[in-house]
Amino acid sequence: MQASGSKFRVAICGGGIGGLCFAAALSRYPEIKIDVYEAAQSFKEVGAGIMVWGRTWQVLTLLGLERALRDIAGLESGSSEDPDFGFDFRRSDTGGEEGHRIHLLRLPCPGHLFHRAHFLQAFVDVLPEGSAHLGKRLESYHQANFLSPIELNFTDGSSAACDVLVGADGIRSVVRRWMFNDLAKTHGRDMLNFIQPFFSGTVIYRSLVPAESLRDRDGQMHRARREATMYCGLNKHIVCYPVARGTLVNFVGMATIPEAEGSPYTKPWVSESSREEVLACFQNWEPEAEELVKLVQKPLKWAVHQLHPLPTYIDRRVALLGDAAHAMTPHQGAGAGQAIEDAFILAGLLGDPSVTKNNLTDALEAYNHVRVPFANKIIGTSRHAGAMYELRSAHGDDYSTLAPAIQNQWDWVDGEDVLAQLERALKWMKERGVAAVKASL
Ligand SMILES: Cc1cc2nc3c(=O)[nH]c(=O)nc-3n(C[C@H](O)[C@H](O)[C@H](O)COP(=O)(O)OP(=O)(O)OC[C@H]3O[C@@H](n4cnc5c(N)ncnc54)[C@H](O)[C@@H]3O)c2cc1C
Repeated sequence: MQASGSKFRVAICGGGIGGLCFAAALSRYPEIKIDVYEAAQSFKEVGAGIMVWGRTWQVLTLLGLERALRDIAGLESGSSEDPDFGFDFRRSDTGGEEGHRIHLLRLPCPGHLFHRAHFLQAFVDVLPEGSAHLGKRLESYHQANFLSPIELNFTDGSSAACDVLVGADGIRSVVRRWMFNDLAKTHGRDMLNFIQPFFSGTVIYRSLVPAESLRDRDGQMHRARREATMYCGLNKHIVCYPVARGTLVNFVGMATIPEAEGSPYTKPWVSESSREEVLACFQNWEPEAEELVKLVQKPLKWAVHQLHPLPTYIDRRVALLGDAAHAMTPHQGAGAGQAIEDAFILAGLLGDPSVTKNNLTDALEAYNHVRVPFANKIIGTSRHAGAMYELRSAHGDDYSTLAPAIQNQWDWVDGEDVLAQLERALKWMKERGVAAVKASL
């Protein structure tokens, strides 16, 4: 134990979903000191709705957040608890005619739908007292060797120290920039190519629509109020689903210029847009989609960027988590879920009784061992999923092959779960520790 009484100190840079979930997961080990440094003056989420899959819900349940999330987000509200939850994919760029079903995607687990602010609040509510440091923007860090403290420098001129630094600072991560600059010194200049995110070619319009404004159609509630729906067209699609106890519909309209992928995006990544711009984008789509688009108010426009899959999420005692490690396109609603999985596994490793200040790197390497292949794979499936939804993949609009391909793209949702991943990581870490001891004899 250190003089302060803690086993070691973990600094978390970034208080988004990833960083705060990691703090929640780590707080189960009171012998570890936690500090969360967040650049903004408060913990907040920009944007509208968020969905997480059964595998993420498993983590939230293991962390004891299930009840709080049920209460604040109203999980009782219908489709999100459906064990065969999925998306109704429709062809909707029909010149104003009624659209038709492409595929009814059924997933082997329920999806859980939330208002983002509610979701984040569940993590804020369980933050260990005294751990939050707001208005602290990390500027740089310095990791000298395997044992001395890592120095943290903030833009306000202050500094701090820790034994492990976790960069949960999002897609434009400062921690990633310093980490890959350091790695370039030992592993070559190619490492520098992993620092910058690139433009995916897609812009997104996001808004929350009051559910009661959507008229019933053919004696039924509007589809967007009942179920998660994908209105698809060439190079465009709309994702929508009910949130906040069914009072709001989360609207996400996407438009892609495939040739623009990888081109420089010089405008702000997030900006205010207008209802007119969104209407023009989805003009002459099927009537139920158009009705939804007409209700969009004050949409935010996002230029979607992503990372090239990183070869590593760690460098000695510094680790990346969430978008800092694997920012991906949102076509499989997976970015936050993967951040939550990272958080659970890294916390489980650091909290293991065998981990002390002297073998922290073993824990980080075990994290890297299981998380890099899993999360990086979803960067690829997500990008491909977007091409399929927008009918520009090799399947085009041949629904006979497109429908099964869309289904198969979701296999990972039912893949190795977090408990199995953690167990595998712990086993790997312990075998490695034993091997190191034997080698030193
Ligand atoms: C349109 C859209 C829809 C999406 N839908 C889903 C979905 O349905 N399901 C899903 O799982 N994912 C979804 N995602 C992805 C998901 O939103 C992200 O993957 C997730 O929010 C990333 O969380 P994070 O904590 O890693 O990063 P962020 O949310 O970016 O948080 C990073 C935090 O770090 C802080 N920070 C940044 N720099 C510094 C610094 N230097 N010092 C200190 N603090 C700093 C920031 O202020 C911020 O609070 C979607 C994304 C988009 C764009």
